[in-house]
Amino acid sequence: MITMATKEDQSSATLDVNAIRHDFPILSGSTVPIYLDNAATTLKPASVISAINKYYEEYSANVHRSIYALGEKATKAYEDAREKTARFINAPDSSHIIFTSGTTEAINLVAYAWGRYNLKPGDEILITEMEHHSNIIPWQLVARDTGATLRYIPITENGSLDLSNIDELLNPKTKIVAMIHQSNVFGTLNPVAQLIAKAKDIGALTLVDAAQSVPHLPVDVAALDCDFFAFSGHKMLGPTGIGVLYARLELQEAMEPFQGGGEMIQQVTMDSSTWNDVPWKFEAGTPNIAQAIGLGAAMEYITSKDRTLLIQYEKRLTNYAIKSLQDITGMTIYGDSDPRGPVISFNVDGIHPHDLAQVLDQHNVAVRAGHHCAQPIMNRLGITATTRASFFFYNTSKEIDSLCESIEDARKFMGLK
Ligand code: PMP
Repeated sequence: MITMATKEDQSSATLDVNAIRHDFPILSGSTVPIYLDNAATTLKPASVISAINKYYEEYSANVHRSIYALGEKATKAYEDAREKTARFINAPDSSHIIFTSGTTEAINLVAYAWGRYNLKPGDEILITEMEHHSNIIPWQLVARDTGATLRYIPITENGSLDLSNIDELLNPKTKIVAMIHQSNVFGTLNPVAQLIAKAKDIGALTLVDAAQSVPHLPVDVAALDCDFFAFSGHKMLGPTGIGVLYARLELQEAMEPFQGGGEMIQQVTMDSSTWNDVPWKFEAGTPNIAQAIGLGAAMEYITSKDRTLLIQYEKRLTNYAIKSLQDITGMTIYGDSDPRGPVISFNVDGIHPHDLAQVLDQHNVAVRAGHHCAQPIMNRLGITATTRASFFFYNTSKEIDSLCESIEDARKFMGLK
């Protein structure tokens, strides 16, 4: 089935969605998926796939240690990707960029290399009830191992942070505030700039989990003034296996290594070792070279577009989806915050989310069903799962129509009136 952009998609702005869709090989095959699981991972444009292939086909040497042309070419491409990343998030320079395997590893890096050496009983780690498990578990482990206390900013019924008690939660015992920028369940865009400023006032460090925001919004780490900022390549048109930790230089210098091995050392003796300069001190072993190069190509692809148009387009698509879903009998949508990103979680009375996702799959519509790695949210809402549709700028209003028609079919199939 081919689902092209309608006139409505093109109307109020001049984003050429049909042209964009042509850039994605998976959207030009004989069976085109109606892919609405972009919060889990995005599709990849041809330019990203070809940047990865080119590395493997033309210069697949190891980086940093090879004293020959191929290795130098690979090193340059890998380090160029670091430069592109610094520019993409407005970091002062590329030494602030540590490549990791993803957001999860980036947060674990901070929890291990900073948390385990700097926290003690009586200290507090502040996160939110809205976090993805990857920004909960590393802190639970650190709290367990150091005796520090893990505290949570609660959420409201409608999927926003409840900041009514923030002056008590954020107090002189707080040593780090680690928070999700855009919720992968509700789509809520949290007031991270405000919380970072508050944390700074009391001398706490800050970490932003930007896995869901960076793909959709221009971000500026210099303006945010956070200490750590983490995101994943695969959620922003890049490959899997690559992520980014932005970390302030003084902190990188002061932190212990995360993992030991090749590449992260300067001198090794049988008794002790010294560490490489930052950021390489945190990149032990052969890195994900092709993936970093692919991530650089993804950033180039995104920045080649007018980002204001992309944001407007995704906003219009999300509003259209909310309105269309609300017309379905028995529909509950979780979260109504503004501003928000292109993620909608919902349930339909009388159909379990897993059954719904399965019926939608029979209609060629790919959505996610489950707890979305955010069980504290599910507990807060008193549910076990939701269905989640999430969009990217290659999606169309026609695809949203297909989603809604398929949900109506699922209702009929279940014998619901
Ligand atoms: N944080 C958020 C908000 C996410 O949505 C995800 C992925 N679903 C992660 C962290 C973890 O990302 P990754 O699996 O790429 O490490």
